[in-house]
Amino acid sequence: MPDPIKTRIDLLRRQLEEHNWRYYVLDDPIISDSEYDRLLRELESLEAAYPQYYDPDSPTQRVGGAIQAGFTTVAHKEPLYSLANAFNTEELAAFDRRVRTLTGLEQVEYVVELKIDGVAVSLIYEQGLFKQGATRGDGVIGENISANLRTIRSLPLRLACHDNGALPLLEVRAEVFMPKTAFVQLNERREQAGKPVFANPRNAAAGSLRQLDAKVTAGRSLDLFVYGTGAVDGLNIPSHWEWLQWLKEQGFKINPHNKLVRGIEAAIEYCLAWQERRQELSYLTDGLVIKVNDLQLQQELGATAKNPRWAIAYKFPAEQAETILKEIVVTVGRTGVLTPTALFDPPVQLAGTVVSRAVLHNEDIIKARDIRIGDVVRVEKAGDIIPEVVGSIPAQRTGHERPFEMPKLCPACGAGVIRLPGEVARRCPNASCPARLRESLLHFGSRGAMDIQGLGPAVVDQLLEKGLVANVADLYELTESQLVGLPRLGEKSAANLIAAIENSKNNSLAKLLFALGIRYVGATAARALAEHFGHMNALIAASRKELLAVAGVGNKIATSIWNFFHEQRNLETIERLAAVGVKMVTGDSAEPEILKKLAGLSFVLTGTLDAFTRTEAKAAIEDRGGIVTNSISRQTDFLVVGKNPGSKLKQAQTVGTTLLTESEFRQMLAE
Ligand code: NAD
Repeated sequence: MPDPIKTRIDLLRRQLEEHNWRYYVLDDPIISDSEYDRLLRELESLEAAYPQYYDPDSPTQRVGGAIQAGFTTVAHKEPLYSLANAFNTEELAAFDRRVRTLTGLEQVEYVVELKIDGVAVSLIYEQGLFKQGATRGDGVIGENISANLRTIRSLPLRLACHDNGALPLLEVRAEVFMPKTAFVQLNERREQAGKPVFANPRNAAAGSLRQLDAKVTAGRSLDLFVYGTGAVDGLNIPSHWEWLQWLKEQGFKINPHNKLVRGIEAAIEYCLAWQERRQELSYLTDGLVIKVNDLQLQQELGATAKNPRWAIAYKFPAEQAETILKEIVVTVGRTGVLTPTALFDPPVQLAGTVVSRAVLHNEDIIKARDIRIGDVVRVEKAGDIIPEVVGSIPAQRTGHERPFEMPKLCPACGAGVIRLPGEVARRCPNASCPARLRESLLHFGSRGAMDIQGLGPAVVDQLLEKGLVANVADLYELTESQLVGLPRLGEKSAANLIAAIENSKNNSLAKLLFALGIRYVGATAARALAEHFGHMNALIAASRKELLAVAGVGNKIATSIWNFFHEQRNLETIERLAAVGVKMVTGDSAEPEILKKLAGLSFVLTGTLDAFTRTEAKAAIEDRGGIVTNSISRQTDFLVVGKNPGSKLKQAQTVGTTLLTESEFRQMLAE
């Protein structure tokens, strides 16, 4: 008779290995972190209760991670550990008791730090110069990703000590992460391109960091915080806290919320305070790390095979809720991608918002998570940002649930849908599909593109219904009398819309290129192309090689642009746009003036703005030559303050950054 305990242990080990592989190698987990942690916990407690089944290869004994082909490997000078977890305050108190017993101290001094949910890296500096960066890998051997790390602007290549008593060797440990907004934008772009989306910012950061082409990494807005040291030669600092201050002086980015406390009660209080406030941060945290401050004590406490004994991670409870997945609707995007979305009944309250729907991305995810229509499902905010169906609860099935099938025909036009090799998405191949046309028109008129005010979803729907537009060029042939006839569009709105369409003819070439919706060409690539070629005709005539010479344009973008301009229908549209007077050149208009307006100024945004989404506000600043960063520094010129501002407001007040209300910001843009 096989021992049921051993059978369970084996199953958990197999499952956890599989999830580790998906998470660390593919950057594509199929269960949430809290589910994973639950399985790991169960295995840990079984192994503790039945030590006869100890195995040094168990996932409880090894740092997760693997080496990807294509990178050279690096043997770490000192191992990079994982962290033991505490899921409640009792477990933190137990950690403190262990530390006090082992050290004989009454009260311990701790440093409490936000646990940044990103990717651990080791950075080596020799004589104060950046020499090498590596992933954690399995903790002993990592991948050499120096070229990719060099693309992260907050990584100092030269330390302050280089000019003044440099250290022969300094290894620092840092967490590379993707800010929340960059993650949302990256997934939007990937979804439109029919590519698999990243499950959370951590996986997006890991995937971006382990790119064989550093150019791809450079385009992914990664950032990092340094949280400690590894091997050091030539300097002796007695405490972790003092190290952090020294690292900051060297030019490293250190998290401003690190805190030195005495005793576990103060540490717990700080953890609970951040549990409430974590939404304020522009990056993701999955908890806090509590570290013994005294390095001599750290050394005495040592480490297990997997974790140091002088630190513990307090994990925030997952924001999860259960509800019924009532229906799955399928919508068609601008590039023809079919996206299934789950509708919940009843809607659920998660991380401060009411969630009634969640994008399911594609059929592979729906299958992998075993989600059926009518299921009771668990909904979580992936990294507190986007609601996600993490899985179904099969035990609660009644037998009335239906498996979901992706439609074979486009729900908007009835064309047979296709799935291109290498893509997870299905697409409607019909370029004149009304759903695709609707999205293309909305994109064409959106802010950052041709900026046609009044061309919202309701108007576009009416234009399509009446058959007044079948192509973006048709917009320029609309007359006021045609518009006045549409329901709910008065004379004034019709006149305004015609004027907005007319005005849009003077937009920059960059805006036009973005507005045309060429796959992979976002606002940044459009600007680079417009600057490089100067005229639409030069771009149309460009060879693939010439396109590749443009900053930020790689093979994929070049091929997509080339294909776009070799499609007769697209050329006809451009000819029609040129014929009605839409500007096809860079310069010679108000554009350079606008560009100069905010050149050299740096902005940070906080809170919600009434008239702009984050992306729109960012585009408006960048269009005028300004730059937008995610955090306040002494270099920040302005903080734009919307409703419910986050902690950036306080930071700006401390540093003395000029604050702008939304109306001041709008005025500045309009000037
Ligand atoms: P961990 O992420 O829980 O903790 C260790 C890591 O924390 C360190 O390596 C470091 O990178 C990071 N860190 C961030 N801020 C830090 C700070 N201030 N000080 C020190 N370290 C800091 O452990 P892990 O072994 O890296 O990964 C386990 C995590 O990955 C768990 O959250 C688990 O849920 C998740 N995971 C999920 C799946 C899945 O399928 N969903 C699979 C495997 C792992």
